[in-house]
Amino acid sequence: MNEYDSELVRSILKKENYEFVTDERAADIVMLNTCAIREHAHRKVYGRVHTIRHTRGKASPVMIGILGCMATNLRQELFEDRTLKIDFIAGPDSYKRLPQLIREASDEGQKSYDVTLSEFETYSDIYPDAQDRANPSTASRVNAWIAVMRGCNNFCTFCVVPYTRGRERSRSPENVVDEVRRLSAEGFKQVTLLGQNVNSYRHDDYDFAYLMDEVSKVEGIERIRFTSPHPKDFPDRFLDLMASNPKICKHIHLPLQAGNNRILDMMNRTYTKEEFLTLVEKVRAKIPNVALTTDIIVGFPTETDEEFEDTLQVVKKAQFDSAFNFKYSERQGTVASKKYPDDVPEAIKTERIMCLNEVQKEITYQKNRAHIGEIQSVLLEPYPEAKNTNQMPGRTDGGKLVILPLGPYKGGDLVKVRITDATPHALKGQPV
Ligand code: SAH
Ligand code: SF4
Repeated sequence: MNEYDSELVRSILKKENYEFVTDERAADIVMLNTCAIREHAHRKVYGRVHTIRHTRGKASPVMIGILGCMATNLRQELFEDRTLKIDFIAGPDSYKRLPQLIREASDEGQKSYDVTLSEFETYSDIYPDAQDRANPSTASRVNAWIAVMRGCNNFCTFCVVPYTRGRERSRSPENVVDEVRRLSAEGFKQVTLLGQNVNSYRHDDYDFAYLMDEVSKVEGIERIRFTSPHPKDFPDRFLDLMASNPKICKHIHLPLQAGNNRILDMMNRTYTKEEFLTLVEKVRAKIPNVALTTDIIVGFPTETDEEFEDTLQVVKKAQFDSAFNFKYSERQGTVASKKYPDDVPEAIKTERIMCLNEVQKEITYQKNRAHIGEIQSVLLEPYPEAKNTNQMPGRTDGGKLVILPLGPYKGGDLVKVRITDATPHALKGQPV
């Protein structure tokens, strides 16, 4: 989402004749688009600002702006820290005001900020073009991000998103389809629909299934992905559409968070482990080749060894293709931070995450090995210039990385590939 938001920011500032440079040392203004989801992301930003201030020194001054979720949460703290010398701050709903904020900070030398959260801002009138896209995969017109909804109303007790990004709001289907048409005309092959809670998408009477169906009618777009959904919003209608529509990739990121019912309830996830596993079964029954991935938090307050064991059991039953596992990180302002002391010792969190990673690694490896011998359709990513290798990366429909030998093909091509080998991290293949 932040990567996409940075594309919006480039698009907004380009209209004001700002020029983007990739070399930080050549910039007059550096903006950091920040994440507040875990303490680690947060600490990195402080480190980065100090490094920039240190390398630039007094001889070559630079303006520094903080964008994104940390901006909303920590405006006061960021300005008060005199060693950082932040010039301006803009929250996720204030990017259209950036030209003005920069002007105020540079002309008048004052610190400027806007961290107001909006109930309406969806940036539906900003269309980043290929030049606004900085990631190699988006810049080379293979995949384009497109946020179809913003914000979150779920208030999972551990999560800061509802506070930093505000309430849920969706773009109209016509507006999204319009942007997808432009992307297709620019040569993009895949679009990934984004939202903090993407399958809660709703605009008037139109739901996420309707939106996906409309997007899939756009010619030239070969693949459609979406992230992140919440397990609560998977009506049969949507799963049936996924099963029958060849353009919708058969991959669902289904965040479990925990496999114990007491912890799930404390997290306010609104499902039990039984309901989650029933959903997994239903998804697999309707979409037999589906790839399922997940997010899990270990060491939520008061989680016992037995309760963590429940999470391991659910992971073994669900057989996810891969998982992002995190140690619980207390976030200021969340319900958990107010109600539940962060009482699982760091060493136990580490033990649990290592154990979970180990179990998942073996499942991932077996899942990957099961593809050996299959013919898969692979969307090639751009050749990684910087790495100077004789290999080409691509993704299966299920989103798995496949490594191919170099050949007469390029990023954006869809090629049929025989899977010849697998590791816990990737598949290897030969074009057929
Ligand atoms: N909207 C998505 C998730 C967005 S945040 C969803 O509902 O699934 C991405 C992931 O970060 C979450 O799924 C969760 O596993 C993790 N996360 C969020 N807050 C966290 C916290 N306080 N500590 C550790 N991990 C957290
Ligand atoms: Fe955070 Fe996702 Fe829960 Fe929303 S649904 S509060 S973004 S974890």
